[in-house]
Amino acid sequence: MPNFETHITVGALVSAVVVAAGAAAFGWDKTASSLGFLAGLSGSMIPDLDSDTSKPLRLSGAVVGLGFAAAAVGFVTAPGDFLNRPWPPSSAAIAALGTFFLFNTIFIEILKRRTKHRGLFHSLAVPFLYAGLWAVVVSSAGAKTVMSVWSLAVIGVLTHLILDAGKSMDFSPLKVASDDLSASTRLWVLTALVNFLAFTRVSIP
Ligand SMILES: [Zn+2]
Repeated sequence: MPNFETHITVGALVSAVVVAAGAAAFGWDKTASSLGFLAGLSGSMIPDLDSDTSKPLRLSGAVVGLGFAAAAVGFVTAPGDFLNRPWPPSSAAIAALGTFFLFNTIFIEILKRRTKHRGLFHSLAVPFLYAGLWAVVVSSAGAKTVMSVWSLAVIGVLTHLILDAGKSMDFSPLKVASDDLSASTRLWVLTALVNFLAFTRVSIP
């Protein structure tokens, strides 16, 4: 199996080339280009979230934990009646640490329990699901940014699946579904919904 370094290196190279091509062909600005690069680079690591020991899993767990910790600090340092806010910095720091460890652990445990390595996370729905999620998140940033992040996210995840398939000469990472047909169906329905949402939001001014 190609390792983390291989995936991230290929992901970065391919993303840089596609961003340069997009900027030349479609006039992607700085926002469209940098967010597109981020979508492509992170996409090249996404499928290995299903591996119990992978760096992408630990990295994502840290990002999720930090996100919730930042939100918790924002909440407890804002004045309000509920929970006697604002809290002093020392209590806010403890709340941040607790929140970080709580959500970091929950996220990692859920992914460890609910996924099987090279199961549905290594299938053709994932590039489009990941791209659709990016497109929803940046939908207010304009059509060029949406186009850039959507296409880079698809390409980034595909680099991962193709590398895995090529390295092991086994095309299962490029499968459309797994043996679990109900889970596969749910994944594709979710993918369709997210993309529908992304593109209907973009077309509404
Ligand atoms: Zn993989």
